[in-house]
Amino acid sequence: MTAFFAILAAIGFAAWWSTARKRKAEAQHMAAEAAKLSALHAEAIDHHQHRLETLLDSMIEGLVVLDVNGRITLANRAAETLFGFSRQMIGGTLLEAVRHHEVAALAARLGSETAILDHELRIEGPPPRVLQVNAVALRDGAGIGGGAMLVFHDLTRLRELEGARQEFVANVSHELRTPLSLIKGAAETLLDGAKNDPGAVERLLQIIDRHADRLTLLIDDLLLLAKLDSGRIVIHPEPSALRSATQEVFGDLSKRAAARNVRLENAVPSGLMAQADPDRLRQVLSNLVDNGIKYGKAGGLLTVSARLLSESVIEVGVKDDGPGIPQDALARVFERFYRVDKARSREQGGTGLGLAIVKHAVQAHGGEVRVESEPGQGAAFYFTLPVAKPGQ
Ligand code: ADP
Repeated sequence: MTAFFAILAAIGFAAWWSTARKRKAEAQHMAAEAAKLSALHAEAIDHHQHRLETLLDSMIEGLVVLDVNGRITLANRAAETLFGFSRQMIGGTLLEAVRHHEVAALAARLGSETAILDHELRIEGPPPRVLQVNAVALRDGAGIGGGAMLVFHDLTRLRELEGARQEFVANVSHELRTPLSLIKGAAETLLDGAKNDPGAVERLLQIIDRHADRLTLLIDDLLLLAKLDSGRIVIHPEPSALRSATQEVFGDLSKRAAARNVRLENAVPSGLMAQADPDRLRQVLSNLVDNGIKYGKAGGLLTVSARLLSESVIEVGVKDDGPGIPQDALARVFERFYRVDKARSREQGGTGLGLAIVKHAVQAHGGEVRVESEPGQGAAFYFTLPVAKPGQ
């Protein structure tokens, strides 16, 4: 009997042992599954976090997120670059990070505002910058405050372009007004009685004629420059012989050269062919040779030369032996309406746009322009063009 109970107990124990082992295995399995799930979850969070960071860091705008206490919880790379702060600033205040009271004040105003706040911030630099700041309060579904987000747009380039446009319009108006007022003055003088004086009539009509020509030239140059600038002029490059192109321009300008007794020398080797639009090439050469005649030495020498810079690039040079260009003006002569000597340019009938047209026309061919000058040693303008492609 005792043996019977002993066997029963043994069977009972074996059954319990097996169930207990099974439960333990199941528990271990579940724990392993839970650990796996949790690892997967952590990986997914990491992945999303990384994606979010990559996304925010690829934004052009700077982004800063603040918690309810005004401390930074997130800042993207653009914000760090704009204000020169590092990731260590996370947890710090906005003022510590951006060091601009206006921005901190803007964020402080958000507490009572529901709208997106807008502010233009000028940073002294260097380099000076203009930023547009948009700030918005972050609220949860119940409308309870949850910190703030600030977005910084860099408007510097836009403002520079706007400034350049305004300056350009002011310059154009000024340039148009000068000949117009001279034409108007001459016409009024004629109407006021000078029409009865044959000598005065001739002189005043010449003024009207000369300044009407100047207006036409200015408008032609402005339109051409606008088209070159916007890429609306389609160039048709073709193999162009540089020596004969130079000779044609010399022919066109021979009277002007003779008037100042300037000798024109064509030192371009024959056989040198550039891949260039013939009209634009003539224009570039014409503007540079004309300048050399206008601003070079009376009775001096103007030389056009050319050489191969590489297998695919030709450099053309236009050099005079006049007074040259002061060092501080060299970087500016290709700007629209920039003149070293305004009175002299106007007296010579210049529009102030010749070199800007040269630059754009050369760039339209993929070339570059540059100028070299030593005061008193003349000026040398160089531009590059592609070598003509064989068989074209
Ligand atoms: P402009 O119509 O006044 O000639 P450009 O754009 O052709 O306008 O030239 C800009 C300025 O560059 C000129 O006003 C002149 O002061 C200077 N410049 C251009 N070419 C020469 C040169 N060969 N020698 C000296 N100064 C020059």
